[in-house]
Amino acid sequence: MATELSIPTDLLPRDGRFGSGPSRVRDAQIQAIVDAQPTVLGTSHRQAPVKKLVKDVRESLAALYQLPDGYEVLLGNGGSTSFWDAATFSLVERRAQHCAFGEFGAKFAKATTDAPHLEASDVIEAPAGEIALPVARDGIDVYAWPHNETSTGAMAPVIRPEGASDALTVIDGTSAAGGLALDVTQADVYYFAPQKSFGSDGGLWFALVSPAAIERIERVAASGRYIPETLALANALQNSRLEQTLNTPALTPLIMMREQLSWMLDGGGMDFVTGRTSESARRIYQWADASEYAVTFVTQASARSSVVATVDLLPPVDSTQLRSVLRSAGVVDIDPYRKLGRNQIRVGMFPSVDPDDVSALTASIDWIVERLLT
Ligand SMILES: *Cc1c(COP(=O)(O)O)cnc(C)c1O
Repeated sequence: MATELSIPTDLLPRDGRFGSGPSRVRDAQIQAIVDAQPTVLGTSHRQAPVKKLVKDVRESLAALYQLPDGYEVLLGNGGSTSFWDAATFSLVERRAQHCAFGEFGAKFAKATTDAPHLEASDVIEAPAGEIALPVARDGIDVYAWPHNETSTGAMAPVIRPEGASDALTVIDGTSAAGGLALDVTQADVYYFAPQKSFGSDGGLWFALVSPAAIERIERVAASGRYIPETLALANALQNSRLEQTLNTPALTPLIMMREQLSWMLDGGGMDFVTGRTSESARRIYQWADASEYAVTFVTQASARSSVVATVDLLPPVDSTQLRSVLRSAGVVDIDPYRKLGRNQIRVGMFPSVDPDDVSALTASIDWIVERLLT
């Protein structure tokens, strides 16, 4: 029986969590929660200790991205999925263009397309494993695409489309933030949730916003459009400036986020995190290129993600069987995106993942495949 195979312990990754979100949590992040008892946990989010926590997170994000003058860090409850609705109400004036090359890009496209107060969105699609790029067109006031499409492991450049004039670029950085380099001046809104590179829990959203985006938020808020309170980015702007949120935030994700940000900054900031992710990526793609049974799903080399690798397996190697052997050894969550339906593994390589663990993972896979097929 396959699941009776027991992988030698010295071959296994030291930490077996390779999920694409929620993702590996470092021990220091849990210690930070313990240390927050009783001074922060269980105390009011309108008082100094929690406001200090929010301030630290906002300042650390500004430092990590070396935000230009005038850019601000906003936050609110509800994760990236809620941010799509907030953007639909509070950022798009009349018509958005979306690049959809996987599940997440397509979901935001659907949100604006379904909104009765907007014109039907312009959606540029590409098949899974490829990327689509924005194209400037008349009448578009928001260009939206994911920096990293987590469902397929394809990353796209963040560059303003030429001729976009005063339209905003609104980038889904959920799985890219904290793990991929960014020229922040190319994005007016760069939003993400904390459960990927930041190794925190879901439920919050963060957004780095440019002066043009702030002006847009204020203009749309003043336009008389009906905007539900929780989706009004003007509320988030006002509250974030006061180191608060519109309604009560979960405190532990903020504590975990602050700890991860200080780990990133202490290590050297963006160079440190991208050094780790690109080294992990180098190792997994090199392994796949050399393997007789593994093929990198994303064919265009520059679009191969450094944070989420997707690798097809050739029959008779079976992803389900392989993953069940790995799971019984504590190596988890390398399942392909469910709707992709491929014989594939998908490996989260966020900064918390030690590149040596990626090597241990591929060595463990080779070990299993050798035994399953003989
Ligand atoms: C995970 C993910 C989301 C969804 O985030 P939630 O916080 O669960 O809403 C959106 N976009 C991308 C690119 C993601 O990776």
